[in-house]
Formats: sequence, structure tokens, C-alpha cells
Amino acid sequence: MSDTRSDHDDEGSTVTCEFAGEIAWISMNRPKYGNAQNSRMTYQLDAAFMKAVADDDVKVIVLRGEGKHFSAGHDIGTPGQDLNCTQDRVTSWYDHTNKSGGEFLYVREAEAYLGMCRRWRDIPKPTIAAVQGACIAGGLMLAWICDLIVATDDAYFSDPVVRMGVPGVEYFAHPYELNPRIAKEFLFTGNKMGAERAYQMGMVNQISSRDTLIDDVTELANRIAAMPRLGLALTKQAINNVEDLQGKRQGMEAAFAWHHFAHAHNDLLSGDKLNGFDAKSMAAANKLEGN
Ligand code: ZN
Repeated sequence: MSDTRSDHDDEGSTVTCEFAGEIAWISMNRPKYGNAQNSRMTYQLDAAFMKAVADDDVKVIVLRGEGKHFSAGHDIGTPGQDLNCTQDRVTSWYDHTNKSGGEFLYVREAEAYLGMCRRWRDIPKPTIAAVQGACIAGGLMLAWICDLIVATDDAYFSDPVVRMGVPGVEYFAHPYELNPRIAKEFLFTGNKMGAERAYQMGMVNQISSRDTLIDDVTELANRIAAMPRLGLALTKQAINNVEDLQGKRQGMEAAFAWHHFAHAHNDLLSGDKLNGFDAKSMAAANKLEGN
């Protein structure tokens, strides 16, 4: 996959892609950092998704993570976080890297977070997230863009970014993934939601285990792959369209604007868009609160 970044190349590829029969297995490959999503991973994920879409043999796409965790979220604290990384953009937004102030962050997140997630959510082939361990904040966005979610019994989900003064992650699907009252609890407390409750809430389709996750996802993917390609694509479009008619897309637009007001407010008060938090201090604060 193309990548022009030269720093931190010691990490190698952040995404691997393996096509097996009718299933494309796309794996996040930064296990050392809990698969924290940096810019490079974002663009490599996009390239892998598009490759799977273009391959006529692929009927179902699986997104998974190497190592202990599915995803620790957006990279806000590793040496390779690549905040200013110049990449080939794939949505219609212009380059953010030579801009300043709110424009820098708004354009960056409109492209790399909201724009990418919408693009992936509308991939015209069924997608399955195979989730184990942590699925936190930006990690939720990656699981939520998939059509189905299979989670191990030790998987957990959380969006603790309200602690930064920000109203949830950029792809604001919370009130669609959970009913609104549960979504409020999820965000107000930042608490972890275990796989079992996520299953009860309808966010997770199936609970598996570490030992059986790949087999269970393979079985599910094969069952789906037996359906005709166009039937699957049209069904996905029909359901995504209903969600949008119910306001999902418009709701996300408003939440994204408030999200950026919060980043700007943080920056005005503290000089930092995340109100001084990084991955380490967030983890410490969450631990202190018993999460
Ligand atoms: Zn943001």
C-alpha cells in the first residue's frame, strides 16, 4: 500500500490485507500500541477497503485487530501519531496541513475521521468487525462503520472523551448504536460497556471467545457470501438509507460542529485541543474513576 511517510518506518505496515476465498481479512497491525489509529493506518485501511471492494472474488470484508485489543482509539500519544502527515486525500476536502487555527483541525477531521468513516460505512459489500479486548473512542468508529459486529466475551466498548470536554467521537453514531438514554449514560460516565451488555443493547450481533473468534466470523461471513452480490449491496443501501432518513447523517453533522466548538474552546482556554490530555493521562484519569 502506498505510503509516503518516512519517519517511524520501523513500524512497518500498519494494516495487512489477506484475501481468502470470498472473504477479505483486513487487519490493523499496531499491536504494540493497541492498534491506535494514526494517519498512516487510516489511509492504509482505506486502500485495503478499496482493494477488497474492487476484487470481484470478495463478497464479505472483515475488519479485525492484531494482538490483545481491537483498537485503543485515535493515536494521541505514540511516536508515530503522524498528526501533520501529508497524504493523498480521498474525500473532497482540501489539504489541512498548511492551514492554521480551527481550519487545520476541522478540515483534518472532516477528511480523516468523519469523511473516511462515512465512506467506509457505505462500502457496497457487507462488512464485519471482529472485536476483542478494548474498543475505545476512535476504535468505536471503526467497529461502528461495519455492518455486523462479533465480539469476544472479554471485549469492552467506551467513549471517555467527554472527560476532554468533547461530546463524543467524530463519527457520532452513539444514539443509533444504543438507544438515546443508554447513549447518554455511555457518554456521561465514560464507563466501559462489556460485550454482554453491548449484545443486549443490539450493538453487537454475536458474542464469541478469543479461541473461537476467527472461526465464528468465518462461519458468519461464509453464510453471507452465499447470497448474491447485488442482493447484498442493495439490502445494505436500503438499510443505510433508512438510517439516514431517520436523521443519522444530519445528526452527525450537528454533533461534528459541536465537537469542533469543543476543540476550539479547549484550545482557547488551555492552548490544547484535547484540554491537555494525551493517551497516558486519559488512561490514568479513566482508571481513577474506576473504569
Ligand atoms: Zn476531534
